[in-house]
Amino acid sequence: MSKPIYVTQPYLPPLEEFTPYLEQIWENKWLTNGGPFHQQLEKELAEYLGVEHLSLFTNGTIALLTALQVLRITGEVITTPYSFVATAHSLLWNGLRPVFVDIDPITCNMAPDKIEQAITPHTTAIMPVHCYGTPCNVERIQQIADTYGLKVIYDAAHAFGVKYKGESLLLHGDLSVLSFHATKVYNTFEGGAIVSPNAKTKQRIDFLKNFGFADEITVMAPGINGKMSEINAAFGLLQLKHIDNVIEKRKVIDAFYRKSFNGVKGITSLTEPADTKRTFSYFPILVGDEYPISRDDLYIKLKKHNIYSRRYFFPLISEMPMYRGLPSTNKTNLLSAHMIAQQVLCLPIYPDLSIQDQKTILDLITGEF
Ligand SMILES: *Cc1c(COP(=O)(O)O)cnc(C)c1O
Repeated sequence: MSKPIYVTQPYLPPLEEFTPYLEQIWENKWLTNGGPFHQQLEKELAEYLGVEHLSLFTNGTIALLTALQVLRITGEVITTPYSFVATAHSLLWNGLRPVFVDIDPITCNMAPDKIEQAITPHTTAIMPVHCYGTPCNVERIQQIADTYGLKVIYDAAHAFGVKYKGESLLLHGDLSVLSFHATKVYNTFEGGAIVSPNAKTKQRIDFLKNFGFADEITVMAPGINGKMSEINAAFGLLQLKHIDNVIEKRKVIDAFYRKSFNGVKGITSLTEPADTKRTFSYFPILVGDEYPISRDDLYIKLKKHNIYSRRYFFPLISEMPMYRGLPSTNKTNLLSAHMIAQQVLCLPIYPDLSIQDQKTILDLITGEF
């Protein structure tokens, strides 16, 4: 049997390139708490992404929790059921009530037209997700937030390096949260970050991720331990040297799939967003009624050939036991999300996916039944 092909595989630079970083850490004996690699990575990442203020975190989920804390979000937060569970979990962990609104079936992002009707006197924030790196309708969302006095925290875990209208997508909203988990386009094994609009907010975030310490004897708030270690930061610096090459390789695979599925009955690639420089974090297809077999049967067929596609995002967050009881999880409220969750399949996309493997995947999907 050929070796398994997963939906993603982390890019790892040649091991010898990492050795000098490790030697440096051994020499410094500064392992965490804002060491030199941590400082350097914050600087280089902000520069690379085209943002001014960025705080590194141990992972994206702790960054989401901290983003909600620093803005002192209370009550209800409007969010999407079509995401990874961490989006909504971060609300529950802060004692907040998620209010789910439906998605737009073209972008798979929160439908801006559904937001206003979900606002109540308890609503304090909106937490949208740039799903698969496709920009949310940031202008419309900001307009609603301004009208009702709400904060906007973007879960930008899929949006590393994405540019919208020539600028970093991460500049929108009050805060944007990134994940550098091993499965993401850019990874530090585990890691994450918050992009903030000014130095004061970044400072408060930096206190919060270090237990709330503002100096040796002053604790400004009940903070958490969200610090990224020197090893992760060093790896992040090395990854940054390769990231443009990684994105370029993903782009070629995206183009191959897109071209090959064009005109295939029952298979739809996601529409390419306008005014966007993408980083190709996922390649979702929709398996429609016209396709000879169901989405789940296609998933199983691929699996039998050792190809592990993923149903991101199925089941919906709103279908999980800790959310099911909320009034906003009613299926009639989330029809598009339910429809897409039944059809979506994310195909393998990563730098080392060979052309041969891409062709095998294509043949299995478009070949005879
Ligand atoms: C990966 C991911 C997260 C969580 O990030 P971690 O770094 O794994 O904690 C949150 N939201 C979305 C949409 C994600 O894809």
